[in-house]
Amino acid sequence: MKKNKAGFLTRMIHAGSFDDPWGSAVTPIYQTSTFAFKTARQGAELFAGEKKGYIYTRIGNPTISALEKSIASLENGFNGIATASGMGAVSTIYLAMLGKDTHMISTASVYGPSRGIMENHFSRFGVSSSYIDTSNLEEVEKHIRPETKLIYLETPSNPTMQLTDIAGVVEIARRYHIPVAVDNTFSSPYLQNPLDFGADIVLHSVTKFINGHADVIGGIIVTKTEEMYRRLRPVMVAMGFNMDPHQAFLVHRGLKTLALRIDKAEENAFTIAQWLEQHPKVAWVKYPGLLSHPQHDLAKKQMRGFGTMISFELKGGLAAGEKLMDNVHLALLAVSLGGVESLIQHPASMTHSSLPREEREDAGITDGLVRFSVGIENVEDLLEDLEQALEKV
Ligand SMILES: *Cc1c(COP(=O)(O)O)cnc(C)c1O
Repeated sequence: MKKNKAGFLTRMIHAGSFDDPWGSAVTPIYQTSTFAFKTARQGAELFAGEKKGYIYTRIGNPTISALEKSIASLENGFNGIATASGMGAVSTIYLAMLGKDTHMISTASVYGPSRGIMENHFSRFGVSSSYIDTSNLEEVEKHIRPETKLIYLETPSNPTMQLTDIAGVVEIARRYHIPVAVDNTFSSPYLQNPLDFGADIVLHSVTKFINGHADVIGGIIVTKTEEMYRRLRPVMVAMGFNMDPHQAFLVHRGLKTLALRIDKAEENAFTIAQWLEQHPKVAWVKYPGLLSHPQHDLAKKQMRGFGTMISFELKGGLAAGEKLMDNVHLALLAVSLGGVESLIQHPASMTHSSLPREEREDAGITDGLVRFSVGIENVEDLLEDLEQALEKV
């Protein structure tokens, strides 16, 4: 059986694993910085790219390669490029695709630092950017310039749960020969595969769902084509954004239960979203699985599930949000998402606090918005905890 053609769960367990000479059931940790050549000739062949093998861990390492191949398989892509963090993946893409006097179009409510490094640092090197509502396809086309070299999407985006029609943006981008990258962190490869909708690059903060246990920082890029892989990989290697072998081992271990974790957390999230929507102290709930979500139909079209992330607004605004978070005991008051444990946070004062208030509100991040990353605890316990905390609001 060809492992890469198997079902998602089978690939989740087996894709990328290699035949270890000792029969090791899991990919061993090659905790080494460098690899000895048998002969001068072999070294020369490796450097010339004539033979496959490993030279130096910043360039490549068997433990890291196994993870890269595995996630590439789950994203239906050519190959993966693992990075030290999700931001390492974002930086690799910006550095490889953009330069002086080029322009990028991106989702206004992307992950805060993805926007921050563009506006605060890449701007210093002459890169310009337009942060717009990419859920509006006319807006996307309107902002394309002759120097636009990248369209960078995040869907669903953080923390507004707004969706962008990936196939719709790709259709426009193709006409202008602009590559499309999608941050797929919020969905994971289990719920959404952007490359299948024509995107050229997909990236993840594997810190979130893919590792799933809140104990590793990491990132990965998967490209659709070999050509794009050859464009991005040397940038990651040269900049030193590589993942570490031990990190890769832990992420690969977490990956093997991705679908099971998401299935359970999603079931919980659905129940909690419906419950919150009925609650008198809640102004509104944003969850792609609710009929009230403005893009519920798009979610059904491009995602295989609705995920585990809920955003909601309390009627009492900022003060109510703070009160709620101070009284929730089961969910941890913490940033990050996608782990087995529930996490709750307040974007206006935490993840998106670096944005000026006006830009924040433009991006749909209101003062009373609370973000809930639902874990795999017993849902009755999560509801009971929310109920007692809401009583104090
Ligand atoms: C966390 C996150 C990142 C950055 O990843 P790190 O691993 O923290 O560097 C990028 N995009 C999204 C959507 C994220 O949630």
